[in-house]
Amino acid sequence: MNLNQKIKECLAICPQTKEFIIGKNAFDKIPEVLAERYEGNKNVLIIGDSITMQIAGDRISDICKKAGFNVDAYIFVKTDKEDWDYIHEIQAAIEKNSSIPVIVGAGYLNDIVKVAAFEAKTKYVCIPTVASVDGYCSSGAAIKTNGSKNTYNCWAPYVVVAEPEVLAGAPKFLTAAGYGDLAAKVPAGAEWMIADLFGTEPIHEAAWNCFFDILPELLGNPKGVAEGDGEAVQNIFAGLALSGISMQVCNDTRPASCAEHLFSHVLDMTHHTFNGRPQLHGDQVSIGTLTMCAVFDEILKYDFTKIDVDKCVAAWPSLEEVQKDAIDTYADFPIKNLGYEMMTRKYESADKVRKELENLKVVWPEFKKKLEAQLWSFDKMKEHFDLCGAPTDPSRIGITRAYLKHILPKAAQMRWRINAFDLLKRCGIYEEVVEKIFGKGGAWDLAEEKLK
Ligand SMILES: [Zn+2]
Repeated sequence: MNLNQKIKECLAICPQTKEFIIGKNAFDKIPEVLAERYEGNKNVLIIGDSITMQIAGDRISDICKKAGFNVDAYIFVKTDKEDWDYIHEIQAAIEKNSSIPVIVGAGYLNDIVKVAAFEAKTKYVCIPTVASVDGYCSSGAAIKTNGSKNTYNCWAPYVVVAEPEVLAGAPKFLTAAGYGDLAAKVPAGAEWMIADLFGTEPIHEAAWNCFFDILPELLGNPKGVAEGDGEAVQNIFAGLALSGISMQVCNDTRPASCAEHLFSHVLDMTHHTFNGRPQLHGDQVSIGTLTMCAVFDEILKYDFTKIDVDKCVAAWPSLEEVQKDAIDTYADFPIKNLGYEMMTRKYESADKVRKELENLKVVWPEFKKKLEAQLWSFDKMKEHFDLCGAPTDPSRIGITRAYLKHILPKAAQMRWRINAFDLLKRCGIYEEVVEKIFGKGGAWDLAEEKLK
């Protein structure tokens, strides 16, 4: 794997992120990049909190000052202010001297600055301090408006500069969560292949090539991730960032997530907490990822060249039946019509389903090989999660296996896009597969419940 070559190829087709430098002493290159990318602007505003300034912000400040930049700092302190109050405050700080915003940090702060820079109509520089999530290079931020969190569309970072030593110095549990968020792309990619097969969302070749071909290598050293090995952690961050760039390339979230992320969304939207705290995105996604690996393990056991298409089509529900099921599934959910709306949008006629199944029957041997090349078994994924410290049982995020089974239909119906469950439903084996996963000897055997 030649990571730098891959990054170079991705940046060449990326609409918003134009520089991504990762490696030892990468911060030393910041002045040169700023000079080239910001047309002589000499004013830099470094935005961080007391911890991230200590980890990297102060050093970057010195590097920029030595190179002749005027450096100001905005030290973020979390109080009880609303998201938009921070955004406007940071926006004003950026606009004061028309400074180049350099955000040093992750998560919440990164999201706030992303929006503040966008509001100030300025492109920003991202200095990540933790390889914990896949959102760094996406063109959106999670912002609370009037009490509810929504994705706010804004620009992705213009420049990203990361040092492996800084990323590897982050708390291990955060990097493990990042590993899970990157591993999610394994089943998510396979689900994209299904959507491609059904013709609803064809694979965007350039976006796919941003990282799917090197994904196994990026995930290849889970033990190194747990030990804080610079290269192992660098690979996790690179993968997360490239998945964001991939999303920019096809202007869609399809490359980075599918059903495995929806389990996490169900938990977020029901305000799930464990030990009094919301759980990390990557940890929740890890459980969704393992679940989807288990689903695919079952899918790969079937021989779809033998499906009885007539029988499947005859059993295909009407739109009204699908809508009723969605209303029942979402009866105990905060947004009761979500499943109804998504399934209405997703619904396909029996004729279309017949064509999809007839095609599946013919191409299955070849398609199965492609799926196998993309997928990891539940056992393999679990082994890797064990090594890096990511969750390997729902109990780690405070949910029982029974609850996971309860929310599975919600995850299956939460988005309009085709996922692995839609394949199962078309073939009339959805219930059967779910029962296998939660049944005796299954991946999440209910008899082996760890959280009582
Ligand atoms: Zn994610």
